[in-house]
Amino acid sequence: MKKDKAVVVFSGGQDSTTCLFWALKQFGEVEVVTFDYGQRHKQEIECAQRIAKEQGVGQTIMDMSLLNQLAPNALTRDDVAIEQVEGEIPNTFVDGRNLLFLSFAAVYAKQIGARHIITGVCETDFSGYPDCRDSFIKSLNVTLQLAMDYPFVIHTPLMWLNKAQTWKLSDELGAFEYIREKTLTCYNGVIGDGCGECPACQLRAAGLEAYEEERANNGKLL
Ligand SMILES: [Zn+2]
Repeated sequence: MKKDKAVVVFSGGQDSTTCLFWALKQFGEVEVVTFDYGQRHKQEIECAQRIAKEQGVGQTIMDMSLLNQLAPNALTRDDVAIEQVEGEIPNTFVDGRNLLFLSFAAVYAKQIGARHIITGVCETDFSGYPDCRDSFIKSLNVTLQLAMDYPFVIHTPLMWLNKAQTWKLSDELGAFEYIREKTLTCYNGVIGDGCGECPACQLRAAGLEAYEEERANNGKLL
């Protein structure tokens, strides 16, 4: 796959940045596609731009502001508060968001002669998004092949990893510090370790703590 071209669906968050580093190891040429859908914080787009630039990969930013029209919610509207009820789909949910993003990424990928598409979706920490599930990705892969008569391969390096294992992967890729300091996961727009209070920060911090504990224990064994 070293000679192949790949496109990473890229938001500048922990997961997609881990996918970017993974793709850079696997493929000869990597580009990223970032979707601008009127995110609550412009920092998210700026953060993604900064990382793409620093890693020397081409970036295409696609205007997906129509999502705002389709599914107004807490991620895109300033006047809607973010609430997370235990065990329920968070109100940041946009129906079919990954379906749309991956379809647009595929149209673009074919145009530049890339058949590999990488996305950071994950079923392990399943947060209630049905289009993050492995069965959906496999189904979409077939659909995209049929839709465009092109041998797409969708890669999901994080599909079966928990948050601690995602940190571990970033460490194995030599990108642990970079991802910790430069990525944006926080719903309140704070880069790195974030605000510490929103659901995204809590999830990220719990995974980081679990991984650092594991790393410390391994260190002692040596
Ligand atoms: Zn936060």
